[in-house]
Amino acid sequence: MGKNEDLFIRAQKTIPGGVNSPVRAFRQVGGIPRFVSRAKGPYFWDAEDKRYIDLIMSWGPMIVGHANPEVVEAVQRAAATSFSYGAPTEGEIELAERICHLMPSVEQVRMVSSGTEATMSALRLARGYTGRDLIIKFEGCYHGHADSLLVKAGSGLLTFADSTQNAPSSGGVPQDLVKHTLVLPYNDIAALEEVFLKQGEQVAAVIIEPITGNMNLIKPLPEFLSTLRQLTSQHGSVLIYDEVMTGFRVALGGAQSLQGITPDLTCLGKVMGGGMPIAAFGGKKEIMSKLAPLGNVYQAGTLSGNPVAVASGLKTLEIVSRPGFYEQLTSQTEQLMKGLKLAADTSGVPVSVDSVGGMFGLYFADQVPRSFEEVTQSNIEHFKQFFHAMLNEGIYLAPSAYEAGFTSITHDSEVIEAILAAAQTAFKQLAR
Ligand code: PLP
Repeated sequence: MGKNEDLFIRAQKTIPGGVNSPVRAFRQVGGIPRFVSRAKGPYFWDAEDKRYIDLIMSWGPMIVGHANPEVVEAVQRAAATSFSYGAPTEGEIELAERICHLMPSVEQVRMVSSGTEATMSALRLARGYTGRDLIIKFEGCYHGHADSLLVKAGSGLLTFADSTQNAPSSGGVPQDLVKHTLVLPYNDIAALEEVFLKQGEQVAAVIIEPITGNMNLIKPLPEFLSTLRQLTSQHGSVLIYDEVMTGFRVALGGAQSLQGITPDLTCLGKVMGGGMPIAAFGGKKEIMSKLAPLGNVYQAGTLSGNPVAVASGLKTLEIVSRPGFYEQLTSQTEQLMKGLKLAADTSGVPVSVDSVGGMFGLYFADQVPRSFEEVTQSNIEHFKQFFHAMLNEGIYLAPSAYEAGFTSITHDSEVIEAILAAAQTAFKQLAR
């Protein structure tokens, strides 16, 4: 028995399922999760000192590579002056100013500690602002684990759940609570129009992953987004862009900058903290001013705006703001996807690929999916085999066919070559 297995057995005694977040348990793909001991750039080493090229990058945050020396230095400097004060700091203002500068739709921003808190608080704010209860989300989108958002949710819930129509995707969520959540198919303009025609005046907010990463990577149709913006404006509903995953990952200004859409509120996380636990929600000043202490919508956090996390976020955002960063990241990711497609085609394995910035989709399907329904029709058996073959070759993909993949600026040509060499071997095994 190897050290990873030892640790997994030990972990399961004191941690439910041996992990602190479900997808890490490898339940969809089977096998033993790798316990990470250290990481650098695009690589991490497991408990047996085997090196892997990381294509998850902490599910998105590590866009400048693991243990980036500039970020490490900023974090060390901040940590030396204490980890937390529970009082405001200048660094928080700098981070807020940088976010507002990079994302002009965000006029004011409130910092929290996780993406879940960001979406949960944004929804409460939207409800408080509009005085309405109803929210709309889309099938397969994951917005963290707040109760009213755990309906037909993606990511780990899609991996594990038996998602029954309009039932909560999780135990412990009252039916009474999710009755205020309407779930519509992603990219379905007619369904959106119908709901707004019937119930538009009751809709407090529509929350959307503007490019999904939690049912694999799915891009929205431009007309779907413009209809969404137009209907929410017309009916006085708050449009919430959940850019926890896409913010500073698909482009410097997030998905909204690529799509030309101005949301009312935006949720951020992951890259904005460079791997430290920090997230945020922000948007129109008129809406944000309803938050306590100015308004009556309560929201708070002991560790909110944590100075060490702020230092990590500020340095990460400084690095990604340097000229050419996203051009290089995008081109590297495209090079990887082109190579993967070619390797699959050569072996006769039906695969399609897509990417945007440093985020990619690899689908065991003939065509790039456009909805939750299409994604769930991909060949899961092929994915599982490919996942394990790649793992064996030292390439760490997300352990679920329903997750997007992530690159960093350190995934350079040499790293990509190594991934593609492994993929050729892995696809050949599938073809046999
Ligand atoms: N929103 C989106 C789009 C996400 O991808 C995630 C996490 O993956 C969340 C919200 C929740 O963030 P966290 O895991 O930090 O609570």
